[in-house]
Amino acid sequence: MQYQHILDQIHEEIAPTLPQGRIADYIPQLACVDERKFGMAICDVDGGFAWVGDADERFSIQSISKVFTLTQAMRTADAQLWRRVGREPSGTAFNSLVQLEFENGIPRNPFINAGALVVTDIVLSHLGDAKAALREFARRLSGADDIDYDLRVADSEARLGYRNAALAYFLKSFGNLENHPDQVLDAYFHHCALSMSCAELARSFMYLARHGLNSDGEVISSSQAKAINSLMLTSGTYDAVGAFAYSVGLPAKSGVGGGIVAVMPGMFSLCVWAPGLDGRGNSMAGSRALERFAELSGQSIF
Ligand code: GLU
Repeated sequence: MQYQHILDQIHEEIAPTLPQGRIADYIPQLACVDERKFGMAICDVDGGFAWVGDADERFSIQSISKVFTLTQAMRTADAQLWRRVGREPSGTAFNSLVQLEFENGIPRNPFINAGALVVTDIVLSHLGDAKAALREFARRLSGADDIDYDLRVADSEARLGYRNAALAYFLKSFGNLENHPDQVLDAYFHHCALSMSCAELARSFMYLARHGLNSDGEVISSSQAKAINSLMLTSGTYDAVGAFAYSVGLPAKSGVGGGIVAVMPGMFSLCVWAPGLDGRGNSMAGSRALERFAELSGQSIF
């Protein structure tokens, strides 16, 4: 299918409505991004590629990195992982502490912060240098060997990340972290601070559209790719997953940098970026763009 005209149409519709929503301002480095930015890129399984707007500009991928970390943990310690992290939507904010207390330190899923901290801990235990490992993984998946961490973002996350620190220490108190919480937090903050563009993210997520394979071979097994897509559908867009599945109907993962990556298994991987967020933390114009994409292309998993 040819997607360029669909992306052009979405861009034409959305550009005049920007800025939309509120830019994340919990750290100053995210708040200084131009809120009128908008980019979109799609890769399909036949090698097709289309893009529009600021699709080549790098932004802070934030929680989208949780998909990469999860993939790395599943590659190395799949069985252990699911004894320590659940697979249910959380229904509470991505950085909530409350559920952890009731569920004995087992986070509800790998995409809320508590879950991602446990996943990061597993990667640290198995791969050692989790920061270098994730950067290398993103470079390999995207084919862009200059992808890197924005160290100013990582540093602000570390200086202001009291809530994440509370989560990590709380998890440790339940015995659900093997490494020291500070070590886990350092890796986690760097992962969130990875800078990538829509084009690079769309390319990187192709293994989830191609049942675990990318152009180099197997990244994960096809059943693991199915599992990650299922988790994105049920837990990938904060506590708006129901509305998102209703209006878009694709597995997706968003981040507070304003990026959202969506996957149609067997067909394509698509990334949109618009920094203004809605009240749940999803890119407002990005969610609308994906909804329009589903309408105009007729593509959804349902
Ligand atoms: N760095 C953010 C945090 O850990 C990530 C939030 C997100 O994108 O969901 O709170």
